[in-house]
Amino acid sequence: MRKFIVGNWKMNGMSSDLDEIVAISAVAQLHPSVDSALCIPATLIDRAVTAVGAFPIGSQDCHMQRAGAHTGCVSGDMLLDAGAVLTIIGHSERRAAQQEQDSDIRAKAEAAKAAGLKTIICVGETLDEREAGKALDIVLGQVAHSLPEAAAGDWLSLAYEPVWAIGTGRVAEPTDVADMHAAIRAALVARFGAEGEKIRILYGGSMNGDNAAVLLALPNVDGGLIGGASLTAAKFQPILAAAQVSGE
Ligand code: PEP
Repeated sequence: MRKFIVGNWKMNGMSSDLDEIVAISAVAQLHPSVDSALCIPATLIDRAVTAVGAFPIGSQDCHMQRAGAHTGCVSGDMLLDAGAVLTIIGHSERRAAQQEQDSDIRAKAEAAKAAGLKTIICVGETLDEREAGKALDIVLGQVAHSLPEAAAGDWLSLAYEPVWAIGTGRVAEPTDVADMHAAIRAALVARFGAEGEKIRILYGGSMNGDNAAVLLALPNVDGGLIGGASLTAAKFQPILAAAQVSGE
């Protein structure tokens, strides 16, 4: 399976950052055996797509309706129209701040698929949940309830992102990552059969150029969702290089 390395710029990105997006697309071209993409604020998608050409640009959310009275929201059709080819759904920052529930995430993923967007659904436990020994139950529950029935197929990836590892510099232990990814894989295969083997499972949570090689070499770690270390080409490039080596 080709590794999939996706940057998540969160609420960062102005027109003055377009040059950095172009630089990131240029380093991505140096690693043709790795699939990569950048998910940026909706305001920049159109200009970024014009600037980078074929490099995949995505969004960080997608509304569950195609159009209508949803002030401030952006639909999958609109994102596609702007040139996006993928979207992140159910990031823990949105699960927490926008109170997104598994049912919302499932509906958004269905809408993204209907619009023709590749989709990354995020799951992950909080620190309290991990310390209470509930990490596996929480994550497998999110997997069970956030994924649409028609989930199988290469339009979908999952990202396992322990909430306590996002933006904190604290990385999950490789053995814990491997255990969680194995459990997610087993759940996908139990539900979708052989197709469940093909859904890429990314790890996210303070992945950077120093730890990417270890994380990306773990079984069932099919890529990474990268926040802070995706903001510059200089930080993103070593992760792409690690993905290239681990994919060989
Ligand atoms: C993320 O935004 O999904 C993420 C994993 O961020 P960071 O790499 O900064 O922890």
